[in-house]
Amino acid sequence: MKLKIGDNMRVVMKFGGTLMDGAEQIENSANLVVERVRKGDEVVVVVSAMANVTDDLVAMGEGARIGDMERVRKKISELEKRHLEAAEKLSKGDLRGETVSKIKSLLDILNQCLTGVFLLRELTPRSKDLIVSFGERLSAPLMKAALVSKGIKAIDLTGGEVGIITDSNYGNAKPLLNITEVMVKDRLLPILKGGVTPVVTGFIGQDENGVVTTLGRGGSDYTATILASALEADEVLIWKDVDGIMTADPKLVPSAKTIPTLSYAEVMEMAYFGAKVLHPLTVTPVQERRIPIRIANAYNPSNPGTIIREKGEGTKKVKAVTAIKDLSIITTGGAGMIGVPSVVARVFSTLSENNINVTMISQSSSQANISMVVKTVDLERALKALKVEFRNGDLIRDIHAISKVAVIAIVGEGMRGTKGIAAKTFSAVAEAGVNVLTIAQGSSELNISFAVLEEDMQKAVEAVHRAFELDK
Ligand code: ADP
Ligand code: ASP
Ligand code: MG
Repeated sequence: MKLKIGDNMRVVMKFGGTLMDGAEQIENSANLVVERVRKGDEVVVVVSAMANVTDDLVAMGEGARIGDMERVRKKISELEKRHLEAAEKLSKGDLRGETVSKIKSLLDILNQCLTGVFLLRELTPRSKDLIVSFGERLSAPLMKAALVSKGIKAIDLTGGEVGIITDSNYGNAKPLLNITEVMVKDRLLPILKGGVTPVVTGFIGQDENGVVTTLGRGGSDYTATILASALEADEVLIWKDVDGIMTADPKLVPSAKTIPTLSYAEVMEMAYFGAKVLHPLTVTPVQERRIPIRIANAYNPSNPGTIIREKGEGTKKVKAVTAIKDLSIITTGGAGMIGVPSVVARVFSTLSENNINVTMISQSSSQANISMVVKTVDLERALKALKVEFRNGDLIRDIHAISKVAVIAIVGEGMRGTKGIAAKTFSAVAEAGVNVLTIAQGSSELNISFAVLEEDMQKAVEAVHRAFELDK
């Protein structure tokens, strides 16, 4: 049961790295929060690290491990400069003193962690998570300072402090939703009831032993929906620097248009197939409670953006085109595979035992070939594992790979049961002069995906976007 007064809403608002990247941007983001708080809504704020800070922290961990402390120290002073400059612009007096000293003490601890890595010459997944958690821990006090300067009561907290409890799969931890729900309610409801706005670090949780974990790159979107579900919020508002979820990545297709509504399932497919606009698991916590997610532009807030809910709307059968690059295709073949179902199972269990994720699979009808798409970073490991597993050569004779591959997917609920979508897709791609390497259709019929050479990716995406009139 929700303990709320009157018609006011409870909303979780999330701001990504570009919207936290300096005093001016944080000020703009804070104004969006203040507007809702003044209306009487309860707002939980989730923030990412400043733009590129997480990448920097990853590099700093690696730098410390290989002994390059000079570069690491230089990076720490750059971080200090960026955050202190923002703190000084966003706050005055005691608040400024408090914010500055929090940032300095966090950087001090970061420095000690990196020195530890340097001395041990060892960077475990667990210590890496601790190191990258500093990005969000440094940005949250800045948002708090901006809100307090505008007369709003606010407090900054880490994901662990608000009760996001995860498994111990460092780098890609999953929330334990039942315990998280109890803890988050316990920690955040009294704060909200006291008229205080919590500013929570995105991306970070802690495991049951209290060790810091992270939810995977881009995980702040996921933090927002985990909190929204636990708090039974009315809405999740994810602020971006684009007008919502678009028919294609606007960086790839400048004529891409905002999609007004999408279903949870459509967004999951899009995110899985590389639409980097949301963390792939973002919709999962709110789906059951049917909490809508709105994606809107923080620099164009009057534009309604995209609403994600149970059912999408619109007449278009295909709603979006996505693309992922840096992939490779592995093809395994041999007459020994025909009619021996266990071979396919062995191929996949070999890959999964080696922690290699398969993005896409297709099998020829003769069963003599299976093609699998994997990340290029995993290619060498995958080939080695398969060669060892099938070293006898009686079942699988050839294993070969094509690198520099991209997978393109078209997504839309209206595709289900509609004939001619595949024909239209592939004739558009062929007319653009692009060769298709392999094809797969999800059993949900929500997507068709196909692989092309990376050099053909842009041409193919544009051709499909045009063929389905997504720019109209
Ligand atoms: P944030 O830091 O706020 O989480 P991201 O950089 O992770 O923001 O996501 C926004 C970016 O996602 C956009 O700048 C855009 O280039 C990219 N993107 C990829 N596909 C899409 C899409 N279909 N619609 C909108 N943006 C997309
Ligand atoms: N800062 C984290 C990252 O860059 C999380 C996020 O931005 O969502 O991956
Ligand atoms: Mg992101």
